[in-house]
Amino acid sequence: MQIVVLLKAVPVVGNERLVDGWSVDRSSGLEANGNDEYVLEAALKLVEAHGGEVVTLTMGPASSVEAIRKALAMGAARAVQVVDDALAGSDALATGRVLAAALGRLEYDLAVAGADTSDGQGGVVGAAVATRLGLPYLSYAASIEPDPAAGVVRVRRISPTGYDVIEARMPAFIAGTQLLGEPRYPSLRGIMQARSKPIATWSLADLGIDPASVGSAASRTAVHEATPPPQRAGATIVRDAPDAAVERIVEFLASRRLI
Ligand SMILES: Cc1cc2nc3c(=O)[nH]c(=O)nc-3n(C[C@H](O)[C@H](O)[C@H](O)COP(=O)(O)OP(=O)(O)OC[C@H]3O[C@@H](n4cnc5c(N)ncnc54)[C@H](O)[C@@H]3O)c2cc1C
Repeated sequence: MQIVVLLKAVPVVGNERLVDGWSVDRSSGLEANGNDEYVLEAALKLVEAHGGEVVTLTMGPASSVEAIRKALAMGAARAVQVVDDALAGSDALATGRVLAAALGRLEYDLAVAGADTSDGQGGVVGAAVATRLGLPYLSYAASIEPDPAAGVVRVRRISPTGYDVIEARMPAFIAGTQLLGEPRYPSLRGIMQARSKPIATWSLADLGIDPASVGSAASRTAVHEATPPPQRAGATIVRDAPDAAVERIVEFLASRRLI
């Protein structure tokens, strides 16, 4: 099985910073988006069970390479990185266009993405890519079961009533959730092997994309304002004996109509 994992490099969680015009600062300290590590883990388990390889696909600045190396250390066979100065400021629509063009040049039975990212949090790029490529889109996946002989994949999908089991012909696009399972830590051997695994670098010209159709000038959404969350008030620490402490906590919650 060939599986392509869409992996975004995001600012280290907790260090997000906005720069000129409310853009997220991506100049340093990028790591693999947390949700994407969960879908990568699921993809690695699938190729361990069925054979094949996992390829990661990233659109982002050159500094995305650290996040990509971690994915290679976890077990991805190779990576593709789309890098081009003209991409800066791309919104979700432009990002979807570029990733779809890159995916269109790769061979795959499954393409998988995280539910959303810790920086943009749009939760739309996977659907945009699948729509552009006319792929079946299976979202909110809690488990993924391909049947390569039959050419189909079944996904257990979180639904308001529990789980739906849905099936699609491959190639298909799946957006996964953290229920897929905890990502592995890269082993020392994996880290060493990652150094020699190939990372292909593609530009917009390689993908046949007009630079004027991406980037900030072509983006149809723009952030006009961003406000940091209000500072939290100081915590109340209860140090009473257990019975008295319970009483105080119950009083506290009741006074705020929380119980
Ligand atoms: C309303 C709005 C307006 C915005 N406007 C601007 C703007 O004007 N300028 C600007 O610079 N940015 C803008 N952004 C941010 C920009 O849209 C995102 O950085 C980018 O489109 C990816 O979207 P996301 O992070 O929300 O991904 P999501 O849709 O949350 O990502 C879902 C999944 O898609 C995959 N994925 C997403 N992005 C990538 C990637 N780059 N490479 C590989 N896989 C990926 C991952 O698997 C990820 O888990 C905007 C965001 C929003 C929500």
